[in-house]
Amino acid sequence: PYEVLIIGGGPAGAAAAVYAARKGIRTGIVAERFGGQTMDTLAIENFISVLETEGPKFSAALEAHVRHYGVDITTLQRVAKLEPAAQAGGYATVTLDNGARLLGRSVILATGARWRNMNVPGEAEYRTKGVAYCPHCDGPLFKGRDVAVIGGGNSGIEAAIDLAGVVRSVTVLEFMDQLKADQVLVDKLKSLPNVTVHLNAQTTEVVGDGQKMTGLKWKDRVTGEEQHAALAGVFVQIGLVPNTEFLKGTLELSRFGEIIVDAKCHTSAHGIFGAGDATTVPYKQIIIATGEGAKAALSAFDYLIRNPAV
Ligand code: FAD
Repeated sequence: PYEVLIIGGGPAGAAAAVYAARKGIRTGIVAERFGGQTMDTLAIENFISVLETEGPKFSAALEAHVRHYGVDITTLQRVAKLEPAAQAGGYATVTLDNGARLLGRSVILATGARWRNMNVPGEAEYRTKGVAYCPHCDGPLFKGRDVAVIGGGNSGIEAAIDLAGVVRSVTVLEFMDQLKADQVLVDKLKSLPNVTVHLNAQTTEVVGDGQKMTGLKWKDRVTGEEQHAALAGVFVQIGLVPNTEFLKGTLELSRFGEIIVDAKCHTSAHGIFGAGDATTVPYKQIIIATGEGAKAALSAFDYLIRNPAV
């Protein structure tokens, strides 16, 4: 059994593991894929103190740091179920897809999130070659170019406003007949000279030259007309989905499925903590996820010293 059992091996899980292991307590990580979303990232330019790195390189550095402290790492395993301890100090049970069970006197959930895809031809092919999801991360890569934003909700309109200050032009495509974002954001968007909005626009294809994306095709859902624009990039902003399906009915989740945590990463169950993109903490970024992972480990340690094993 572990004193601290961490589910997820992304930035949040890795930071939690280093902080827990440095307290000299038995620490384990179970993750489907070590590195998490950073494995899908090309350039990382906003992890403070590292001017520039690449996702897989960053992920390897996370893993090396965790291994340095002798943490038990189990990868390629998916957690299917969590049963919190019946009383504080007891063991939580974590069941894997293959039926194996692991015990943890505390558990840190750091299962991250995934961006919802458009599921159109070209999207997967040109991912990181024009198709992007995170304006804070990849916006500057499109400086002076023409880009599109898919989605007229709050995240799409925030992204469009953010990008309009960096790129040459922004084309917003919204599937419905109106933008769903807050009015104050829509007003701000409308005040920008380099933004065009298309409503009733169903994206049908990401077009490219085999190397990189070169444009986007969409259909006007009212007139049926096919449209095309030459674009260097597209930011898909149709939702970030937390990997928390296996926690439904076990812990309190927000209406978006995020694990509800307080400022010290406590969840609604004894001895269960949450960190990173899977939680209600805003701004899904690596530096934030690592900070939250560190906090969750310190909170778990605090919990362990206050609740003797039962
Ligand atoms: P994740 O990185 O999502 O890791 C989750 C971990 O949990 C993984 O190990 C996963 O395998 C595991 N897991 C999930 N479910 C289960 C389960 N049931 N059982 C076992 N394991 C499970 N942020 C930046 O700060 N800068 C950037 O430049 C940047 N660029 C990005 C580019 C792309 C394309 C994407 C997708 C994201 C980018 N981000 C960037 C966001 C950043 O990657 C995330 O904020 C960060 O990775 C979140 O860390 P996390 O540990 O919370 O979750």
